[in-house]
Amino acid sequence: MTASPSASAQDEKINWVASLPFIGVHLMCLFVFYTGVRPVDVAVCVGLYVFRMWGITAGFHRYFSHRAFKAGRGFQFFMALAGTLAVQKGPLWWAAHHRHHHRYSDQEQDIHSPLQKGFWWSHVSWILCDKYGETRYDSIKDYARFPELVWLNKLHALPGLLLAVALYFLGGFSMLVWGFFVSTTLLYHGTFTINSLSHVFGKRRYKTTDTSRNNWLLALITLGEGWHNNHHYYQNTANQGWFWWEVDLSYYSLKALSWVGLVKDLRTPSEQVKMAYLKYSPEERAALNAPMRTSWFAPVAARKKAAEQKMKAAEERVREALAAAADSLPSSAPTPQALLKRQ
Ligand SMILES: [Zn+2]
Ligand SMILES: [Zn+2]
Repeated sequence: MTASPSASAQDEKINWVASLPFIGVHLMCLFVFYTGVRPVDVAVCVGLYVFRMWGITAGFHRYFSHRAFKAGRGFQFFMALAGTLAVQKGPLWWAAHHRHHHRYSDQEQDIHSPLQKGFWWSHVSWILCDKYGETRYDSIKDYARFPELVWLNKLHALPGLLLAVALYFLGGFSMLVWGFFVSTTLLYHGTFTINSLSHVFGKRRYKTTDTSRNNWLLALITLGEGWHNNHHYYQNTANQGWFWWEVDLSYYSLKALSWVGLVKDLRTPSEQVKMAYLKYSPEERAALNAPMRTSWFAPVAARKKAAEQKMKAAEERVREALAAAADSLPSSAPTPQALLKRQ
């Protein structure tokens, strides 16, 4: 069954009750004013940010979403667990939605396109509505055959919860606040910048059908994911920084892990792929970096479309009511349409 436009708009409304834990994680950060700054807590905050960001970038993104390298079943589970500790749902949910993003990037069906639905939608709102809460198992059949991953995907909140409890017992309330709440909040927004900012700010080297950009600052805070135009141009590579100056910490770590045999067959782009942009004409290059118009909230076009859909649905309801009224009248009576015409 296909959902009616109004039902789908309803699903895209923010579910504030279900979003309470997410909002709560943010609010708990305010306790830093109460706990103060203890170096050990800040170190744990940074360490857990880097480790869990690695779980998202090397694990959820490059391995599970794009199959950019190979790993044994044990290390595969380790990467899944590292990413799940970031409290951004499970590996199968994450990777399936990300595959959908690449399939439809910046088109109408794209789940989190700033071009289609505005900056805030692409950054965070899409996660807070009910529509995208379920795992799209049909898009991730290749990894859904591992029962331990399905289990982790279902119990995705548990590892984060256990981490929070462990931090509390290890270092008290201040370590809980810094190591879990502050670190997790930074991690949320660090990751989300790739859906939002890296489709808005930065340089486009390659022609792609979307608005993806390369941005060195985003690459630093996301361990290499900010080379997003490279990535959208050629998705299945273990490295996203393709030139020596494009710092990509996730790839360096994967390279080191390949030396000890924990991962193998890291896919990298051919010279032909990397250098494809040299064939572009100066006009094509200028067009690639033409300023882009986006809005913080839904762009005017999207709002206009939603209003049109609403109007269409209302017209349909009036038509149905008229038809029902006509059915209940004796056949000799004039139809409601004829009465309307007489006025
Ligand atoms: Zn990707
Ligand atoms: Zn993207």
